Amino acid sequence: MLYKTLFIDLDETVYPSSTGLWEAIRQRIDLFLHEKMHFSWEEIPATRQYLYSNYGTTLRGLKALYHIDENFYLDFVHDIPLQNYLKPDPELRRVLKSYPQRKFIFTNADANHAKRVLEALQISDCFEDIIDIHTITPYCKPMPEAYHIALKYSGEDDAAKCVLIDDTVGNLATARESGFFTIRVGSDEPSKEYHQGIKSLIDLPLALKPHPLFQ
Ligand SMILES: [Mg+2]
Repeated sequence: MLYKTLFIDLDETVYPSSTGLWEAIRQRIDLFLHEKMHFSWEEIPATRQYLYSNYGTTLRGLKALYHIDENFYLDFVHDIPLQNYLKPDPELRRVLKSYPQRKFIFTNADANHAKRVLEALQISDCFEDIIDIHTITPYCKPMPEAYHIALKYSGEDDAAKCVLIDDTVGNLATARESGFFTIRVGSDEPSKEYHQGIKSLIDLPLALKPHPLFQ
């Protein structure tokens, strides 16, 4: 099967969790809840869990319950010196370039953050476009509507010709139900929720054969 398009998640997919970047973003989210929303530090873990479970992301929950400004939140939580966490990744660049398929970033974060991450890794030119939280609003992964919007945005009409690559099992499960070929990044454990697992995006050729002409 020759897949036409790859939809690749951003955070903890194009870079590993060991970089500490996502943990730094998580701490900025906590700081937002404390400084801007005036939750006590003790309330914050349960609050975040509630927002995530009921609304999909902290941002969607804060928008629904408190009408907070989306860009104010996104700029605050991503205000991090990326160069302290990420460095150029020529090996990943080579792997991505070995696939002739169209490639999109598909993320619940915003395009500003995605662009900065891709630039820090020096892989921006591997991607045709970024499908971000603004593109899929009012939805987010893993809501099925987000995947329908991503397909429509990219001009693809058949999920069976597309691959969804993500580190979050819930995001993969919806994609699999929607007809995508699904690859988990971060673990190669087999699961019913996705088709194939790889430890790192660098290992993509273990799950998806590159086109011989591009190797
Ligand atoms: Mg992720």
